[in-house]
Amino acid sequence: MVMMNPNAPVESARDWSGPPPSGLEETVPVLAYVNHGRWVGDCPAPGCNAAQMLHESGIYFCTECGNAAFSHKWLRVAWPSDAKEIALLLCNRQAQNQNWMPGEPLTELVKENMMHSIPPVL
Ligand SMILES: [Zn+2]
Repeated sequence: MVMMNPNAPVESARDWSGPPPSGLEETVPVLAYVNHGRWVGDCPAPGCNAAQMLHESGIYFCTECGNAAFSHKWLRVAWPSDAKEIALLLCNRQAQNQNWMPGEPLTELVKENMMHSIPPVL
């Protein structure tokens, strides 16, 4: 069950004077993707959608809305099971070409690398 209030206004973390986030909202995953060589995730709060860089800890806090729609709880990052392979396939590209979206198969990254003569790492 999703524990968010779709009618909650998007708050700015700069205006948020509450306590630091505590607790974990497990039902709303933040999908990890790669944008210009950075692992990022879009805030799932309605009306926010701010992209935040992800930390390997696997927890997510949006600095734009303070996770207000989720009672200011941490959210969990949904990393792809093949994140290491994705990173290896992207690492020889220029930063602006290091991109991957959830569901994009590794074979597509291999194909793109071959098309652009990117040397294989795997
Ligand atoms: Zn947000």
